[in-house]
Amino acid sequence: MKKVGVIGCGSYMDSGYGCPGEWRCLKAAALGEGKFDEPVQVIWHLKCQCPGRSTVSNLDMSIKMSDIKPDAIYVSSCMAYAMPDCPYRSAEELAMVVQEKFGIDVILGTHEYH
Ligand code: SF4
Repeated sequence: MKKVGVIGCGSYMDSGYGCPGEWRCLKAAALGEGKFDEPVQVIWHLKCQCPGRSTVSNLDMSIKMSDIKPDAIYVSSCMAYAMPDCPYRSAEELAMVVQEKFGIDVILGTHEYH
């Protein structure tokens, strides 16, 4: 089974109702729904925190401390499709930086639940 990491928007997690980063990404990953084309194991779920300056270095630590190079990194739907957008960095830009730095595929979005 593939192993993946998920990055979520901490600003949304701290203030959102219905899914404060707790279940939507994890359910989609477990069932192979949404952006997951098969069930996968989530190794870590990293919380981005405004203004996002530590996100890439925290991601580096998640990979090092878990001692598992994920097969893919998913940018959560609440981060990839944020409305209004993140004022600091677009999900596309973050994905490009992560993909270049770690050489790991980055997928924008996780689930399609409402
Ligand atoms: S920097 Fe952007 S993506 Fe990260 S927590 Fe803040 S609003 Fe969310």
